[in-house]
Amino acid sequence: MKFADLGLSLPLLAALDARDYDTPTPIQAQAIPPVLEGKDLLGIAQTGTGKTAAFVLPSIQRLVDSAPQRLVPGRARMLVLAPTRELASQIADSARAYAQGQHVRVGVVFGGIPVPRSIREVSRGLDILVATPGRLLDLVDQRALDLSGVEILVLDEADQMLDLGFIHDLKRVVKIVPEKRQTLFFSATMPRNIRQLADRFCTRPVEISV
Ligand code: AMP
Repeated sequence: MKFADLGLSLPLLAALDARDYDTPTPIQAQAIPPVLEGKDLLGIAQTGTGKTAAFVLPSIQRLVDSAPQRLVPGRARMLVLAPTRELASQIADSARAYAQGQHVRVGVVFGGIPVPRSIREVSRGLDILVATPGRLLDLVDQRALDLSGVEILVLDEADQMLDLGFIHDLKRVVKIVPEKRQTLFFSATMPRNIRQLADRFCTRPVEISV
């Protein structure tokens, strides 16, 4: 199995080539085709399995393929929620690397940096916003960020986000993003409370466990 067999576009294959990745990991092989088709995804996977590329690559392709849209100030087309600033930064770095040469604007916001900097980050509009839940909702409450244009929503390390006490923030986010969207939900574990949360976020998801 090669990345080229999964239906990815030439610019993405070139970005993978630049990183010397030619063989998809199991989660990438299973996740990329259904995500490209627009399906929701429930992925049970640990860090280190290649899950970031599993959701970033097909999402970039969907964003680029859908009618070219002008970015709207204060809006993001794809929202990725992550539990920690470290993970959020890593995801944003990966997204920038995979999106090279494709006019995909990526931003990242998290707690611990000055709020005005986060406001500036989202002010011109973004294709992909990676955020920790608290800072995200601060920006929404300050009306610096509007989530009504989100086309793809990703929850990464959902179990960690619950452990860190973000459950109410997540429930708020799901109420303010559009109902009509694609949702990709990842967790290393799937106890009952996480599955209930996944049910609230996803619609008939393709389930993958690696
Ligand atoms: P992740 O699970 O997303 O944190 O990725 C774990 C590590 O594997 C990261 O350093 C990735 O850059 C790397 N990686 C992801 N996909 C591949 C691949 N198909 N081949 C080789 N390395 C990969």
